[in-house]
Amino acid sequence: MPIIILFSLILIACIAWYVNKRIKLSRRNKIFSQPLPKHWISVLENSVPLYRRIPNELTPHLHGCIQLFLYEKQFVGRGGMNIDDDIRLTIAGNACMLLLHGRQKRFPGFKTIIVYPDTYIAKQTSHDGSLESVENSHRAGESWVRGPIVLSWGDSMRGSHNANDGHNVILHEFAHKLDEQSGAMNGLPVLKDSTHYVEWASVLNNEFMSLKQRARRGKNSVLDEYGTVSAPEFFAVATESFFEKSTQMKKKLPELYKQLSRFYDIDPASWK
Ligand SMILES: [Zn+2]
Repeated sequence: MPIIILFSLILIACIAWYVNKRIKLSRRNKIFSQPLPKHWISVLENSVPLYRRIPNELTPHLHGCIQLFLYEKQFVGRGGMNIDDDIRLTIAGNACMLLLHGRQKRFPGFKTIIVYPDTYIAKQTSHDGSLESVENSHRAGESWVRGPIVLSWGDSMRGSHNANDGHNVILHEFAHKLDEQSGAMNGLPVLKDSTHYVEWASVLNNEFMSLKQRARRGKNSVLDEYGTVSAPEFFAVATESFFEKSTQMKKKLPELYKQLSRFYDIDPASWK
């Protein structure tokens, strides 16, 4: 193929890619700026107590993120689950709390949210040397790296309605989605500034070890013991408490609170 034709084809492909990108961006901006219907706001007020707490100046950004979320994500009901507005808005409303910092408007890299009526059973594979065993595991939710999020509606609804107990499976699974944006799910998400990484790693590692020690001694913590499983689980569990037990976390674990407050760019302990 003559070099001039090859060059022309590459140029056309680049222009097509650029135009497509601009069209998508323009469509997203248009959807982001559309006001939420009144009955959606009523659902959020009734089903997402955290929504009632956020300062007024953060509401427009949250609404835009919810619009984009509902436009881009596909909800799939399993086990006889019918998806309605209450389900879609409860999940979107909680998930988009994690985007209040304003640095991004959406959760990229996946499309599907699978919803079961309640706790569901999944196969869990474990290894002991060369021995592989498969067991049934009861789950409230899971997040596949660059894949779908799976949620139990019963656990999601209970977690959303009780916004003071530090248990919110929607916040938990979507925190994993933020975590994986750095390229790996390792408890180290993309931070606002490159100078923040050393302090983040030091504080979160110290608190992770401290939670393990407290759990071994049978002592309670602001954080759920499930955070001892791994660094990614610690970040997801800490996120749940940051939003739902913010005052306690700020008082008992101020260094951890400071890191999460800087990452999420909000101060929920100051909310009414
Ligand atoms: Zn998890």
